[in-house]
Amino acid sequence: MRLHCEVEVVHRRLPALGLRNRGKGVRAVLSLCRATPAGLPPISNFLLCFPLVKQLKENVEQFFTKFVDEGKATVRLKEPPVDLCLSKANSNSLKGFLSAVRLAHRGCNVDTPLSVLTPVKTAEFEKYRTKMVITSKKDYPLSKNFPYSLEHLQTSHCGLVRVDMRMLCLKNLRKLDLSHNHIKKLPATIGDLIHLQELDLKDNHLESFSVALCQSTLQKSLRSLDLSKNKIKALPVQFCQLQQLTDLKIDNNELIRFPCKIGQLTNLRFLSAARNKLPFLPSEFKSLSLEHVDLFGNTFEQPKVLPVIKLQAPLTLLESSARTVLNNRIPYDSRIIPFHLCQDLDTAKTCSCGRFCLNSFIQETRTMNLHSVAHTVVLVDNMGSTEASIIFYFCSLDCYVNFSDVLK
Ligand SMILES: [Zn+2]
Repeated sequence: MRLHCEVEVVHRRLPALGLRNRGKGVRAVLSLCRATPAGLPPISNFLLCFPLVKQLKENVEQFFTKFVDEGKATVRLKEPPVDLCLSKANSNSLKGFLSAVRLAHRGCNVDTPLSVLTPVKTAEFEKYRTKMVITSKKDYPLSKNFPYSLEHLQTSHCGLVRVDMRMLCLKNLRKLDLSHNHIKKLPATIGDLIHLQELDLKDNHLESFSVALCQSTLQKSLRSLDLSKNKIKALPVQFCQLQQLTDLKIDNNELIRFPCKIGQLTNLRFLSAARNKLPFLPSEFKSLSLEHVDLFGNTFEQPKVLPVIKLQAPLTLLESSARTVLNNRIPYDSRIIPFHLCQDLDTAKTCSCGRFCLNSFIQETRTMNLHSVAHTVVLVDNMGSTEASIIFYFCSLDCYVNFSDVLK
């Protein structure tokens, strides 16, 4: 009988010697076996392998099973004086295993098939690996599949030109690091990795981050995204639907604008977009609440003295219908209206009054001190400035008059 889990062997005498345990389990296979030497009565000679515990009968001091449903339990042995802390096990297998150990402890016969005393094969153990780090081309598995249990996979410096489809079958993945490769395009199926929390795509050849990815299950899971050192010019407006994002790195790209609805990323805490080509920030940038921001080395334009006035009087039919749709939050998509209209609506400007405008507005650029949105601010240029240009839109002359001073 075997149990795949993480095991930490805690020696109870260590603290008395002033020593401490590592506090970390290792992936292991526990086996419950019956010793074969003749002469011993059959029910007294159960062995627990890893570490080799020769005798189980009346050798268990206590079972701790409060968290058995979470795949965790501790078996306190009398001799040797250790606690076997088991974790990350399948809860049903763990229950079965513990009841077999309990029976062995009581000296009863165990009905379940027991293991033979042979070492576990590497291949069998490999199946249950949770972390794999590959940092060179020569170590990249070409003929073998990745273990399905992987939660953390790193394949850096492997010269990958596309995402390996075999990675997209690893449904337990939480962290995927594909940095330092030559990937040009991301498949939308990355969005099928429902547990993916961290995605590192630093130093690749990406030119975009697709709308399909922004609208995938990554919306619920993705917390950290590193797109640094790519060739991205803009992120789609739908990017702001990745609402669990806390960390975004997009340094060293060719970014000419942030998505206009960036204020929707309410969980964002760390934003770094150094060395891009941002001429100004969208007005929604003001509603972010960051811990750290780095916008060093962008080409922020100096604010213009006079506002740009593009007001229509009267409003065109397109403008007034677009405003109605947006202000009343009427749902739309490309099955109902032409795709280009959807794009227009997606990128509509938000006035400081909270309402929307499309082509009829007053536009004004100002400077904003980044300390108003973040605790720590990396200087914007070598002159020691922490100010960046920000662009504001006003849907009417009234709004311009009312809000213009408030925003100063
Ligand atoms: Zn307005």
